[in-house]
Amino acid sequence: MFNRIHHIGVAVSNLDDAVRRYEEELGFHLEGREKVESEEVEVAIFQVGESRIELLQSTQPDGIISRFIEKRGEGIHHLAVEVEDIERELTELKARGSPVLDEIPRIGAGGCKVAFIHPKGASGVLLELIEGSR
Ligand code: ZN
Repeated sequence: MFNRIHHIGVAVSNLDDAVRRYEEELGFHLEGREKVESEEVEVAIFQVGESRIELLQSTQPDGIISRFIEKRGEGIHHLAVEVEDIERELTELKARGSPVLDEIPRIGAGGCKVAFIHPKGASGVLLELIEGSR
């Protein structure tokens, strides 16, 4: 049902600083940057094998990522798993009692369909389902 870990989302307060650190100090290869209006974030993408690390900075002072950092500091924000048919997975997860946050998928980075599962349904991990390609 889940094909692979698609990406790990990391909340950062300053994307430029974080990108510099990941590229220059850590040696990750930057694939690109993108603003995702629907989620009020700017994303920097680092491909790592068949998965990615996505650094996320809020574009709004009261955005989800800003509020996360206020409460818990910078760090891993969510784990995204790739699925083939997101509507089917959502239906099945709901039927099994998972606390689905998005009844209908929304459009995330790269134009992919995404939906989130509340951390209480995954032992404290905010889980993102993502359908599609890379
Ligand atoms: Zn994500």
